[in-house]
Amino acid sequence: MSKRQIQAYVLLSLILLTVVALTIINYQDTKQYVIETVDNETNELLKNFTDETNKFSNERVAELELIANYLVLLDGTDEEIIEFLANQRDKMPFFTSLGFINPKGETLAGDGSRFKVNQIESFERALQGEVVFSDLFPLYQDPDQIVTAIRLPVKKGDDVIGVLSGVVNMGNILGSVAKESSLPGSLYLFKEEQLVFSTTDEPFDNRFDYAADIKEQMKVKESGSILVEEDSAHFVMFQRAGADWTVLVDSYTNALDNRISTIFWRNTLVVAVTFLILCGILFYIRRNEVREDNLLKRDLLTNLPNRVVLEEKLKRDLDPTNFKQFTLFFVNLDRFKEINERNGYQIGDRVLFEVSNKIQEFSNRNDLYRVGGDEFVLLVSTQDEEELKTMTTALVKLMGEPLELSTFESIWMTLSLGIRKSELGDWPDLMMQDATFAVQEAKKLGGNRAVFFSQELANQNERARLIANNVVHALHNNEYYMVYQPVYELSTQKIKSFEALLRWESPLIGAVSPIEFIPLLEDNDLIVPVGRWIIRQVALQVKQWENELHDGFHVAINISVKQMMHPDFMNDIKSIIQDVGISPSSLMFEITETVAVQNSELASVLLTELNEYGVQTALDDFGTGYSSLSILKLLPIQHVKVDRSFLMTMENEGEKSQIILQGILDIAKNLGMTTVMEGVETEEQLFLLKEMGAHKIQGFLISRPMVAELAIKLIDQKWTY
Ligand code: C2E
Ligand code: MG
Ligand code: MG
Repeated sequence: MSKRQIQAYVLLSLILLTVVALTIINYQDTKQYVIETVDNETNELLKNFTDETNKFSNERVAELELIANYLVLLDGTDEEIIEFLANQRDKMPFFTSLGFINPKGETLAGDGSRFKVNQIESFERALQGEVVFSDLFPLYQDPDQIVTAIRLPVKKGDDVIGVLSGVVNMGNILGSVAKESSLPGSLYLFKEEQLVFSTTDEPFDNRFDYAADIKEQMKVKESGSILVEEDSAHFVMFQRAGADWTVLVDSYTNALDNRISTIFWRNTLVVAVTFLILCGILFYIRRNEVREDNLLKRDLLTNLPNRVVLEEKLKRDLDPTNFKQFTLFFVNLDRFKEINERNGYQIGDRVLFEVSNKIQEFSNRNDLYRVGGDEFVLLVSTQDEEELKTMTTALVKLMGEPLELSTFESIWMTLSLGIRKSELGDWPDLMMQDATFAVQEAKKLGGNRAVFFSQELANQNERARLIANNVVHALHNNEYYMVYQPVYELSTQKIKSFEALLRWESPLIGAVSPIEFIPLLEDNDLIVPVGRWIIRQVALQVKQWENELHDGFHVAINISVKQMMHPDFMNDIKSIIQDVGISPSSLMFEITETVAVQNSELASVLLTELNEYGVQTALDDFGTGYSSLSILKLLPIQHVKVDRSFLMTMENEGEKSQIILQGILDIAKNLGMTTVMEGVETEEQLFLLKEMGAHKIQGFLISRPMVAELAIKLIDQKWTY
């Protein structure tokens, strides 16, 4: 996980925690608020109803007192009392009935009925002078109504002459008050422990678990408050009123219940939404990071992982503690640069895209990387020779058909492979270097092929690298010297010329063959100064040999293509010859057949000029290139040096080569040229060539190239061939 990612996670977690904490606090606060509000409201209600109950009782008692006083004053007959009571009853609707009970217990009721007193206890207590609320009893006229009778003594002076009894239905009274107050809960009225009235049909005992307990409390306590359930702010409160009434309020309603659970759900929703938003943000951050990562690690054209990813993978797989055996295929398109230059970069890109698709299909989209312009790397998990060979052939064959870029355009592509197996102790750079080296070898061999990396190849490469690095200083460091190889004339049995050959003795690498280093000198144009040095060196040598060389003796100098192309070429030769003071005819210049063919016009002009100046010219390594014999006719040359490969093929392939060689010798001779056979190593070759009519030979049989002091001694040597 990246540092940025960790920071984002920490930050988003903090935000989430903050939101959760805030919502919890908010929930708790709200709950507390609701509980307090409900508590207050319920308390208020309870107080109101208690006050109301007390007030009602007191008012009724006061009314009854007035009636009692009047009854004393009236001092009337039973009929008069009944009429009076009936009158009063009409004026005071709170009384269900009014009655006068004489000391004998006979009741005269306002409705005209007479009956024996019931609720004896309260009657007797009233007779003793107390104001008493009787126990509850069903109303005589309407047994559904549970009522109570307020009884007070009717006193004449100090004597009690009877008891006034007013029946009231407290439930009805309280009910009408409750109705007006739109009560947020249920209201109960108890007379002692007996339920007189309730605003709900549900029996009090079934209302909640604490019902029985509360009833117990009501017996012994004036008031009480119980929080039945915190989460729904459910309160039950009771309060004793006058005359053994107990008012009880049960706050529980659905509305209040919902209030807290709504807040709970609302808060949960806030947390959930915050969580979702944060998840969204995280997702966005992740996606951006993946995108950035892709930009850094993917190649835009082919969408393949790039060199960075490959290096990481190689590092992992080459780690000695976790080493894996695998094989790295380095794939490089042949001539891709040419295609880019010739067809434009757009086509180049298309080609790359198509080729990458083909290789991806081949690799099942596994472990393929684009590591450079036209370079891909494929990692395969096997090192089995047979499997690798099959894969290699299949990969090379992938390009067996032209790439169809459009209906009109198709391009032939080939690829080169460099293959390198992993070894314990490898490191990514080394593997890549070796594979690159192998692919370059494949290209040198013409491309469209695979080269397996080997240590031998690596050593060659190391040597090539050393040569390339050191050859640039060789002239300056005086590491060059010339050797001379005699050219022997078969008819006169004499040495008629030398070929001057360049030698490099590097203090670091040792002796290096001109075949290895001359192409390098050509590559970086060093061949021009080195070539100039060679001509001067040979001219000085010829000057030194002036007295020992007989007439017509010459020394041949090899000229390379860059040297010949240089504008100062002719002037340099002329000024050196003049400077040193030798005859132009003592020098000969050799150009190879390949150079002559590729630059035939310029070669023709220069060779003509050389001839005119008095210098002889030769065509070197004849028969190696693809020229026709007509080149002999076109170029102004006096000598044809036939390549030694003819002698070798004659030994292997026999007659045919001999016939061709015979043809060359005859034609050159007929064109008036001297023929020189190169690389004669055996007497048999010499005798055969003599028979075939060759003029001269050069080769180890006569002598290897020698330093000047030794070469000059060969001139007067007697030869028996
Ligand atoms: P070349 O001009 O064809 O030179 C003849 C090469 O054949 C010489 O190799 C010589 O040592 C070799 N040779 C001669 N006789 C025999 C033989 O019997 N058997 C075998 N196997 N080889 C024989 P060297 O000196 O290694 O030169 C190789 C080539 O390098 C030359 O081929 C020439 O193209 C080039 N080169 C050498 N010296 C110079 C130079 O001073 N200037 C330029 N431009 N090229 C040079
Ligand atoms: Mg030569
Ligand atoms: Mg040659």
